Amino acid sequence: MCDLLFCKPLPAIDFEASHRIALAERPDNALHVSAGGRSKRAVGQFSKFWAPGRTLTIGFFNDTPTEHKAAIEKVARQWLRSANLKFDFVDGAFADIRIYTGGDDNHSHVGTDALLVSPMDATMALSTKPDDPLFGRTVLHEFGHVLGLLHEHQHPKANIPWDIPELYAYFAAKGIDRQTVDLNLLDKTDKALAKGTAYDRTSIMHYAVLQEQTVGDWEVGINHTLSRRDRAFARRIYPKVIA
Ligand SMILES: [Zn+2]
Repeated sequence: MCDLLFCKPLPAIDFEASHRIALAERPDNALHVSAGGRSKRAVGQFSKFWAPGRTLTIGFFNDTPTEHKAAIEKVARQWLRSANLKFDFVDGAFADIRIYTGGDDNHSHVGTDALLVSPMDATMALSTKPDDPLFGRTVLHEFGHVLGLLHEHQHPKANIPWDIPELYAYFAAKGIDRQTVDLNLLDKTDKALAKGTAYDRTSIMHYAVLQEQTVGDWEVGINHTLSRRDRAFARRIYPKVIA
C-alpha cells in the first residue's frame, strides 16, 4: 500500500523561470535568512506560495465522473478553512490547476510552478479513487503541494533513523531508483524553506515510514488528516488580507 503514498512533487523544468514566476506572484517568496545580525539571501532558495486571497481555478484534464470531481473538491476545500485562498472548480481543463485522474500515480507541481506547465499538460496527477481508503489523505497531500508545501519527512529537523540500504531495496523492488528515493525521501529541505516551523510527524505532508525502513523502533503511520500544525502553517502562509 505504501507505494501509493509515494508522491513525487515534480521539480520545475526551468529554475530561472520558476524563480521569476514565484517572485512575480509574491515578492516575499524570495527568502532571506538572518545571519550574524545581517539579513542575507538564502542562495538558490525561494518558496512558491501564492498571493494570499488569490483565486485558483481548478479543472479536470480528462473525463472524470461528476461524483469523483465533487469528492476531490470537498476534500481539497478543507485547506481553505485555514488558508486564505479561493478554489474555483471550473468545467473543462482551462484552469490554473489541471488534474489528471486517469493515471496510476499521484503527484503535483509545487505552488506557483503550476504556472509554468504547458496548457497542454496536467499540473497534478490524482489517480486514487474515492472508494480507496487513502483517497482523503492523497487529495489533501497533493493539494498541500498546490499550496506550495513540501514533504515533511524532509524537514531539516526530521532526524528519521532511516535504514538506507533497506529503504533503497524496498523501493527498488517497486521500480523506484535511488535518485528518486533521495529526491523524495532523504534529501533535506533547506532550513530557510522550513520557515522556523517545528518538525511534525503528524503532518499530511509526511510519508508513512515503515518499521523495516528504519533502524531501531521508529515508524510513522499513515496520516489521514490535516494536523494542527498543518492548519497553523496554512494560516501563517496565507493570512487574511487586511485592507
Ligand atoms: Zn508529496
